[in-house]
Amino acid sequence: MSNVETDPVAPRRATGEAPGPPSAPEPRVDVLTPRDVPLGGPRAMTVRRTLPQRARTLIGAWCFADHYGPDDVADTGGMVVAPHPHTGLQTVSWLFSGEIEHRDSLGSHALVRPGELNLMTGGHGIAHSEVSTPRTTVLHGVQLWVALPEAHRHTRRDFRHHVPEPVRTDAAEIRVFLGTLAGSTSPVPAFTPLLGAEIVLAPHAALTLAVDPEFEHGLLVDRGRVRVAGTALDAAELGYVHPGAAALTLRNESDGPARAVLLGGTPFEEEIVMWWNFIGRSHDDIARAREDWQNASDRFGAVQDHPGGRLPAPALPHATLTPRRNPPRA
Ligand code: MN
Repeated sequence: MSNVETDPVAPRRATGEAPGPPSAPEPRVDVLTPRDVPLGGPRAMTVRRTLPQRARTLIGAWCFADHYGPDDVADTGGMVVAPHPHTGLQTVSWLFSGEIEHRDSLGSHALVRPGELNLMTGGHGIAHSEVSTPRTTVLHGVQLWVALPEAHRHTRRDFRHHVPEPVRTDAAEIRVFLGTLAGSTSPVPAFTPLLGAEIVLAPHAALTLAVDPEFEHGLLVDRGRVRVAGTALDAAELGYVHPGAAALTLRNESDGPARAVLLGGTPFEEEIVMWWNFIGRSHDDIARAREDWQNASDRFGAVQDHPGGRLPAPALPHATLTPRRNPPRA
């Protein structure tokens, strides 16, 4: 996915929520609400963006979260994103419904399908295109980015596909696409400690998951109303769970199944500069990446077999781009 948006908005902070049981104090949860961002194109598919926003840049190394659908592609035109570049990050495409054709400058040609991880490492530079397939009627999923740490941000480009085996209990069905949860570990390696999983909860079910207390977490609710660590989240909200918890309890407060994506990781302490589809550490990093893309440099390579042209980079702002980091820990 290509980022076209520039002005994040402030979150709603949870207040007056019931405290957890006294024997196991629950971690603090901030509720981050999404803003609608049109992706551009003829009929402009719109996504709900919860990361980054003013109050929070990262959760672990997760630095970008777009949530979309369920959209009838007859109305929205589906996803049509021409070849565009990335640096310093990985992209994770995770679908609940529909199908997206992915092509990149490694020569990868993959179909992104529900329940299957497609992880692309941009590293020093990659280009890709993403187009929903003609047989897609309903498009529904998330697009997530992971910031690469300094030691690996110029790594070579890579693409991985993995289909996690679901963990099924009476309460839930869990698909772990990155890291470890509920006894399931993804074989796909990450550059920082990271967790990514889809969780479907049965109506009114509760589920307690052991988690790494060093991790901070984000629960993005797709469907239903889910209470995490005592704070209720409605569909499309992202609950930021502060680090320190050894277990997280999720409760589905809806009459139907609920679905959420659980993200986690150790706090990412580096300052990053994020602009358009690039992550760097300075304005100059970004300006160089932009110039390399505009000059069709080998840094990004070419996407084969995409009908139509590549996306031009927008103009750089007149002001110097400055690094962002999370607010200081309370
Ligand atoms: Mn992209």
